Amino acid sequence: MGCGVCSSVCPESAIQIGMDKNKGYFTPSIDNSICDYCSQMKNGKCVIVCPGVEVDFQKLGNRWVNGNAETDILGSFLKTVYAHATDENIRYQSSSGGLVTSLLIFALEQKMIDGAIVIQSDEKYPLIPKGVLATTPEEIKAAAGSKYSSAHIGEPLSAILTKGGKYAVVGLPCHIHAIRKWEQFNRSIEKNIILHLGLYCANNNTKFATEYFLRKNNIQPKHVEKMTYRGHGWPGKMSVKLNSGTQQEIKRGTTETSFRRKLSFSSSFHYDFQIPRCLTCVDLTAELADISFADPWNHRFLKSEHIGKSMLVIRNEIGLSLIESAIKSGSIDVEDADSNEVRLSQNIEFKRKATARIWLRKSLNMPAPTYKGKSYELKRIHAFSYGNYFMSYISSKKWVRHLLPLVQISRWVIGVSLHKIKKQFQLTT
Ligand SMILES: Cc1cc2nc3c(=O)[nH]c(=O)nc-3n(C[C@H](O)[C@H](O)[C@H](O)COP(=O)(O)OP(=O)(O)OC[C@H]3O[C@@H](n4cnc5c(N)ncnc54)[C@H](O)[C@@H]3O)c2cc1C
Ligand code: SF4
Ligand code: SF4
Repeated sequence: MGCGVCSSVCPESAIQIGMDKNKGYFTPSIDNSICDYCSQMKNGKCVIVCPGVEVDFQKLGNRWVNGNAETDILGSFLKTVYAHATDENIRYQSSSGGLVTSLLIFALEQKMIDGAIVIQSDEKYPLIPKGVLATTPEEIKAAAGSKYSSAHIGEPLSAILTKGGKYAVVGLPCHIHAIRKWEQFNRSIEKNIILHLGLYCANNNTKFATEYFLRKNNIQPKHVEKMTYRGHGWPGKMSVKLNSGTQQEIKRGTTETSFRRKLSFSSSFHYDFQIPRCLTCVDLTAELADISFADPWNHRFLKSEHIGKSMLVIRNEIGLSLIESAIKSGSIDVEDADSNEVRLSQNIEFKRKATARIWLRKSLNMPAPTYKGKSYELKRIHAFSYGNYFMSYISSKKWVRHLLPLVQISRWVIGVSLHKIKKQFQLTT
């Protein structure tokens, strides 16, 4: 999925990570004239850290995450809470409650960390996110807000290796998998990265998703000077600044009322432009992080929350002590959350069905990750769910995008019909 960790771990600097213009996400390329196949080891270090090869949730979880083992969607945790930043500006401009941003600033000001790996929009190419090492509150604030596109953290990780010190990392579940795997065999990186803030992640998208969505809203990607996907309250809006100086706001799928735009939002960000690796990912909640952060997608908040609220899963003492200190300092407001409500606040079916998609790929001798210590029940029929996301494999081709409106409508018709049949069946049994 282009996390970039292999490029930092390579002792020979043989791996470059870059945007694959044809695929629309970051991929590594290896210079075989430099690579010595980590001659002392059974596997190259890059292979060992790669979250696309294997993740042993049990082994890694036992080492870094403690609490009640809940093998389902939430993983192990000590506590679940709802929270928001007390700085109203951070709260309003961030993705959900501004918790990631305010905790990082708090940790930096308390000198717990020297900086944090965060994702900003690239100044040169504003539609492509960029991993940076932020060392000031301003830089951390500038990274607030989710970027729903492939982002790698190779460069800031390499900078940490050179500089030394204590850092936090913010990442998607797969970023955190790779870092934990690296920490397992590298004591010095384990000492350098002292805080792991994980974002929930249902799926991520190729850069073509944003470009397609903008075009559907009559915006040419090359005219974009700045783009934010979230912010302006909760659930927020997308905001685009054009190089003509014009500012344009676009509603998100959750608040959109136009049927046409709603369909193109879900096509862009949920179905047709997924990074293929995401179709085989079972970790929604960043189970190996110290704290996981999410939107509280439940009716209670969807009805009443307009400024911003984050949903947190605190997984170990490191996470708990950071939250307690931040509460004492007055930088965040926290209320206890019922873990069952937290669990039900997300669509978990997509991840559950990944087990069948992995089974199908392995049966066809195609590469797929191996997960240990975490599994959902295998229902082979769920392998048909691949059909929903088939377009993700070909949407990088320009001509395919002309067909997408047709695909969106047929998916909607099939979805509504299946739902009606299911309801009828439930009524008669
Ligand atoms: C690709 C993606 C998918 C997500 N899927 C879900 C989901 O299914 N359900 C859910 O509840 N929440 C999901 N989230 C998390 C959610 O959008 C918020 O990030 C989370 O609620 C934290 O909000 P906050 O206000 O505390 O963070 P903020 O204070 O706004 O900080 C956000 C942090 O996220 C980092 N970031 C931004 N984009 C990326 C990226 N692409 N990769 C890694 N780090 C990034 C930034 O560095 C910043 O520090 C997703 C986020 C991303 C980026
Ligand atoms: S997913 Fe694996 S191969 Fe891809 S960039 Fe990350 S470590 Fe490298
Ligand atoms: S769905 Fe999984 S593999 Fe894809 S970006 Fe999210 S955490 Fe990474």
